[in-house]
Amino acid sequence: MSLLLEAKNYRDNFRKELANLNITKNSVEELRIKYLGKKGILNRLFQGFGSLQPEERKEFGQIVNSFKNDLNVQFEVLQNKLSEQEVSKDFFDYSLPGKKPETGYMHPISQTMREISKIFREMGFDIEYGPEVETDYYNFQALNFPDNHPARDMQDTFFINNDILLRTHTSPIQVRTMQSQKPPIRILAPGRVFRNEAISARSHCIFHQIEGLYIDENVTFSELKTTLDIFAKRYFGSKVKLRFRPSYFPFTEPSAEVDITCFICNGKGCNVCKKTGWLEILGCGMVDPNVLEASGIDSEKYSGYAFGMGPDRITMLKYGITDIRMFFEGDIRFLQQFK
Ligand SMILES: [Zn+2]
Repeated sequence: MSLLLEAKNYRDNFRKELANLNITKNSVEELRIKYLGKKGILNRLFQGFGSLQPEERKEFGQIVNSFKNDLNVQFEVLQNKLSEQEVSKDFFDYSLPGKKPETGYMHPISQTMREISKIFREMGFDIEYGPEVETDYYNFQALNFPDNHPARDMQDTFFINNDILLRTHTSPIQVRTMQSQKPPIRILAPGRVFRNEAISARSHCIFHQIEGLYIDENVTFSELKTTLDIFAKRYFGSKVKLRFRPSYFPFTEPSAEVDITCFICNGKGCNVCKKTGWLEILGCGMVDPNVLEASGIDSEKYSGYAFGMGPDRITMLKYGITDIRMFFEGDIRFLQQFK
């Protein structure tokens, strides 16, 4: 290949290399040495000048000189770009918007528990918590479930050993509070409970309860009814009606289950209330004297009421959630709907 052609090729190649260059200190320096270094391409071309035929010299001289100028200009541009990079490394634009950290949302059950707690707090109830791992005494015996009592079968229990278990309800908090405080006692006990049940769309081995307890002199069933009526109207809407049905719980006597008129169909009957117009939302009753005595409270002097409800079921009814397992799967697409 003639030197003239070679010079043209180098010139074209340089343009290509320049276009593909990832501009860093090292890459620019490498390219500079390749073309402008002592043993670089430009010097080699100049050294070949003497071997050219006289008629080629003029054109060759023009090409190599303009190539040299181009190289000088382009490397100056590259140097400027490198300095800009240096500066921008230290430059901080204070007007840029900040990065938004991904934040979670409050779980719908937690929201429900807070809303319910707020209503009862405004009625003078204090919030109490207790351990999720309990003893048989606090979970059963002190609540009037003696050994071998058939009522124990109502609650399939996760036992850790003979005496230690995962609480099956939040009622142990009632016992612990009655032991540590003197009447009047007015508490709300929210928390997570555990039962050894098959997991399905309708039931889970983990769920939540909120229980209330009021102990004082001369507490009556009508006070219980009034308290629950105020709660239901504030939480579910002022048009809601309550219905008390006799029931059985070991720790209350008498006991009742409470239904409200379906807040979806206003009592007319729909799929959610199974055409009955009523929704069962809580259980309640007057605290059994045995439970008071087990906690060291004089059942001749004091009486009290207790009630309990399931925030999981209430949340499902409120938002039309058909599968309880959604609460425990941590699926962000589900949770984002409750922002
Ligand atoms: Zn209905």
